[in-house]
Amino acid sequence: MNRIIAIANQKGGVGKTTTAINLAASLALADQSVLLVDTDPQANLTSGIGLKGQSTPAGTIYQALTADEPPDLEPYLLATGVGGLTLLPADRNLTGAEVEMVSLPNREQRLRPLLSRLRARFDYIFIDTPPSLGLLTINGLAAADRVLIPVQCEFYALEGLSQLLQTIELVQGSLNPGLTIEGLLLTMADYRTNLTHEVISEVRNFFKDRIFQTVISRSVRLGEAPSHGKPIVLYDSQSTGAKQYDELSLEILNHVPHLV
Ligand code: ATP
Ligand code: MG
Repeated sequence: MNRIIAIANQKGGVGKTTTAINLAASLALADQSVLLVDTDPQANLTSGIGLKGQSTPAGTIYQALTADEPPDLEPYLLATGVGGLTLLPADRNLTGAEVEMVSLPNREQRLRPLLSRLRARFDYIFIDTPPSLGLLTINGLAAADRVLIPVQCEFYALEGLSQLLQTIELVQGSLNPGLTIEGLLLTMADYRTNLTHEVISEVRNFFKDRIFQTVISRSVRLGEAPSHGKPIVLYDSQSTGAKQYDELSLEILNHVPHLV
């Protein structure tokens, strides 16, 4: 099943981590078994799901990625406060991994074998990537079946997207021919502003059928939830953000990304 999904955009603060946490939590609450993989040295995913500073006796993704032989990931996994949702945590050590991995064998393919072995255990695996196109993001793209690209509804929304698409093509051409684009997700929409309407129509003109129907609005509750270590569905289940990430989870479950 094509269910390893990387969430990527080298632009910072576009909603990658927020989408990883909330999409994964919605799927877990729909009885899916879900793994979240934090590949960002900022470790916002790890803290946002309520496990800030936590690691396993084996360590974090840092030790797993830099081990001599690809290890079994089981000892690196942490249960989260959401049933069915498991985390492969990151911490600051990962900052060094980007440099260390340069001189390691298979530097672009270190994550892939680790996650491949977990395919049978999880229905979905989401990889949250850092805001760069460095080795950590490349490892995420090389390990994934599909990539979901959050795009923030702001003036420079499309800036950098061509570079990201080029990188995806490069990965498809060499490391991971099976990689497909799941879709672009418009985030932080504020329909009171003309800018949001303009960006949405521009992105739709450009990417047509590759955009999720669900658009995530800008909402205070979504911004607050990570400081409580909770996904939005547990922090405020009636909020707009909770409903929108639920809708997105249905699109993923039904795998109908090609609708505008
Ligand atoms: P980075 O590139 O640094 O990893 P990111 O792309 O993962 O960032 P997030 O961390 O998900 O982006 O979001 C950036 C900030 O915006 C966070 O403080 C987050 O809580 C907030 N945020 C994300 N989505 C929304 C939203 N829909 N409404 C309001 N705030 C949001
Ligand atoms: Mg992030």
